[in-house]
Amino acid sequence: MMTQDEYVKSLRDMKTVVYYRGKRIENFVDHPAIRPHINSAALTYSTGKDGEIDENRTTLSHLTGKRINRFTSIHMTPEDLVMKVKALRGIAQKSGSCFQRCVGWDALNALYGVTYEIDQAKGTKYHENLVKYLLYIQDTDRMADGAMTDPKGDRSLAPSKQADPDQFLHIVERREDGIVVRGAKQHQTGAVNSHEIICMPGGAMGPDDADYAVAFAIQMDAPGIICIFGRQTNDDRKLEESDVDKGNACFGAVGGEALVVFEDVFVPWERVFMAGEYEFCGLLVERFASYHRQNYGGCKTGLSDILIGACATMSDYQGTSKASHIKEKLTEMSHLGETMYCCSLACSHEGTTNASGQCFVDPLLANITKLNVTRNVFELGRLAQDIAGGVIATLPSAEDLNDPEIGKYVQKYFKGVEGIATEDRIRIGRLIENLSSGTALVESMHGAGSPQAMKVMIARQMKLDKKKRLATDLAGITESEETAAAKARTV
Ligand code: SF4
Ligand code: FE
Repeated sequence: MMTQDEYVKSLRDMKTVVYYRGKRIENFVDHPAIRPHINSAALTYSTGKDGEIDENRTTLSHLTGKRINRFTSIHMTPEDLVMKVKALRGIAQKSGSCFQRCVGWDALNALYGVTYEIDQAKGTKYHENLVKYLLYIQDTDRMADGAMTDPKGDRSLAPSKQADPDQFLHIVERREDGIVVRGAKQHQTGAVNSHEIICMPGGAMGPDDADYAVAFAIQMDAPGIICIFGRQTNDDRKLEESDVDKGNACFGAVGGEALVVFEDVFVPWERVFMAGEYEFCGLLVERFASYHRQNYGGCKTGLSDILIGACATMSDYQGTSKASHIKEKLTEMSHLGETMYCCSLACSHEGTTNASGQCFVDPLLANITKLNVTRNVFELGRLAQDIAGGVIATLPSAEDLNDPEIGKYVQKYFKGVEGIATEDRIRIGRLIENLSSGTALVESMHGAGSPQAMKVMIARQMKLDKKKRLATDLAGITESEETAAAKARTV
């Protein structure tokens, strides 16, 4: 296993092509817009600078029995799934930001089960490829990104019907030694600072879309891969010298997303996990999305722990902590946070074994988890801004705070309780601003899929017929053939 320092060092050997704000970034490891995301991802590495091992972040490989980083493991029991959620909450409590590595972990787990099922049905060798790749990842502790979202062009059209065939990542050439792919993946969390990228198709597909039914893994610095790093709310502040206005100077906010372009990228056959088996695209999306939606009551609850702590601290600094409405709002925030956590634990506890022998979350409950996150995180943000007051939207800059002429006015008029430094009140306000607004909220809405995607899955799995029978049985109704025929006309 790599230490946190070794992870950062290993990125320096990568030749990943990165662009940000119109410029090629040669040294992305030390770039102020990217470094916080690297610091955050580094927290997923089990050993810190002083060499301590965090048990939550390691486990035993079901393949070799060796101790491995938990982020490279396959979930074999509901307990593994529960430990995943606990690890995510624990890391988020330290980072206050997305630590990115879960997407690749979920990609490995989704592909582990689905490649097994493709091989069973088709006599292919994808599972063998996946297991070999998994052993490599467990052995080297490399960070893999998981990439599912295509640009999608006209959303009303299938991949093969798009005016531009590259709107979905696809195979452009099949060679004896591998495939060549072209297209892009969007909103890719942690792509720039990952060693590898695991690509999967982003939706159900038909026979005409066979070239788009492609899953594979490749190193991020493979020829033809280009990362275009996205902008975030207040990203100019990352370039400032003072860390007062950054909110979370060390770890930033959200995941450091990028557009990843594949310009005729060669992938050897041993790294291919699906190439044309369009019938399995829907299953793969369902597995990946459910594993990833499971996470959100872990990481977002960890972030809500910090937000609640920041609001309580702000109340102490402003002299409002004894007010009953503040206590009530903090309690409500805890209720919202722990509700998300309950959901993640529930879908983990209800996990079941699939054909490959791995444990899969309860997909209905995993989708409920993420749908709650799209609401609760916004409500947490609303309450946080209510508690903090308008000050977080009107604070002058650190330059003003430290200005020899007018700094005294900022010091004087942004002070709260006597004895509390004005700068501390500003710092906690900036942290609340960072956690409760802008890109952080968008990530909670659309990360792991937009709310409508969850509703589609919930509608598919909510067993409405069974629920109708529960009601009619209890009401003493025995439906006649005439009733059944009449009902059939209404649905
Ligand atoms: Fe992991 Fe959460 Fe970031 Fe997704 S949003 S990669 S689950 S930390
Ligand atoms: Fe996310």
